[in-house]
Amino acid sequence: MSSTLTALALIGALAHPVGPTDTLPRLLQTRLDLDVRVDYESGTVGGSATLTLRNVGTSMVETLPLQVGRLMTVEAVDDEDGRSLSFRQDIVTFTDWPRFQVNQVGIELPAGLRPGEETVVAIEYGGVLVGYTETGMRYVRDHVDREFTILRTDALAFPTVGVPSLEGLRSLPRGDFDFSARITVPADLTVAAAVEPASREVHGDEATWRFRGVRPVPFLNVTIAPYETLDAEGVRIFHFAADGNGARRLRDQVRLAMNRYAAWFGVSIPDGRVTIIEIPEGWGSQASLAGGIIQTADAFRDATETSQLYHEIAHLWHPAETDLPPDRWNEGFATYLAMRLEAELDPETDLRESMEALAARQVRRVGSAAVPMSAYGENEQTDLSYGTGALMFYVLQRSLGQPALDAALGRYIRDYRDSGSSTEQFVDSVIGATGATARAVFDDWLYSTSWLDRLNAGVSLDDMIAAYRTGR
Ligand SMILES: [Zn+2]
Repeated sequence: MSSTLTALALIGALAHPVGPTDTLPRLLQTRLDLDVRVDYESGTVGGSATLTLRNVGTSMVETLPLQVGRLMTVEAVDDEDGRSLSFRQDIVTFTDWPRFQVNQVGIELPAGLRPGEETVVAIEYGGVLVGYTETGMRYVRDHVDREFTILRTDALAFPTVGVPSLEGLRSLPRGDFDFSARITVPADLTVAAAVEPASREVHGDEATWRFRGVRPVPFLNVTIAPYETLDAEGVRIFHFAADGNGARRLRDQVRLAMNRYAAWFGVSIPDGRVTIIEIPEGWGSQASLAGGIIQTADAFRDATETSQLYHEIAHLWHPAETDLPPDRWNEGFATYLAMRLEAELDPETDLRESMEALAARQVRRVGSAAVPMSAYGENEQTDLSYGTGALMFYVLQRSLGQPALDAALGRYIRDYRDSGSSTEQFVDSVIGATGATARAVFDDWLYSTSWLDRLNAGVSLDDMIAAYRTGR
């Protein structure tokens, strides 16, 4: 529930149109090969990043627009054959986000990149790793520190395709990519990523960790800390030394959650394995099946914060949303699953009461300036999808019956987890499996604000559910 917004979500949440974006190059990163060294004396990260980029647009691309952190510099750019490419770089401020500065890089492609073609650029770069808290992304506190360092796109710790406007960034194609990473750090530190290291080579007082992606990832998070690890029964946890007891508790809870979700939907996650990497409190949890889970320390230290982790684990079950920008109703899905699991496990927690309380809170949060949930993405209100979405799934559960909803969701997950799904495909799939009742619920909860009008008029969730059940 408290899953922190990622940079992309924030881009969705804060963007304001700044004119036409149809002229921007449509470049999709299909591969990232990272080879960097972290220097703890100077607070810098540097090395090479090799990007494979495909032109998925309809016009020739002559200049590749990339971004790195505002205190980083690009030193050289080579093409696939080792020929150097000319480039320019400037520290620029976003046109529509005055607190966001990046080093904006333009790499010239002498022959251009035709639609459908791929190109490979190897970028030598480096500089001080700094966070982006001043932009409003308070969780991006990134800096080089022996206690904890994270390399991620959110702080532009490595080059990524980008243009200096939110509207522009939102319009760029994003997809999962293959990766490899070589990370050189002091030998006494552990490097954690979503996949197991392929090798660790010690040279002097440093060690180089190599990782190779086993399947495409939506993001790459690499963390470095004096971690201890726990690896048993399908759950691998990297935790800070002080949190060993919390890590063992989490391992048991994660296994329990995975077993329950798998039983509800008749679908296990591929491999049946998850990696959970502890990060400090306030640094932003994030979850994906392939990209792994980074989880803030509060869930390790406070047993009552477990619902966070149930929420992150739940994200492993839903297919990726393919709409741009996404409505992020999957936040509602994860919130609903976590609340339902908590109620199943804790006799003190009553799902019906929790949901009525959530409905009351959500009415206050949404206020009068309401749009349908299907428009939360384009209206920059995706933070509302946690509550409205959870209520919608609960109303579906009670209206259709839990077995019918679980069977419909199980079928949907199986059908779409490889391809991802639009909101419309999700709705069609559930209606196809269950019928007119689900259509009425989606009309009220997803495609209109009828749910809000009724709650405001004093209609309880129970009353609404009774009406759906009898078809009135
Ligand atoms: Zn979430």
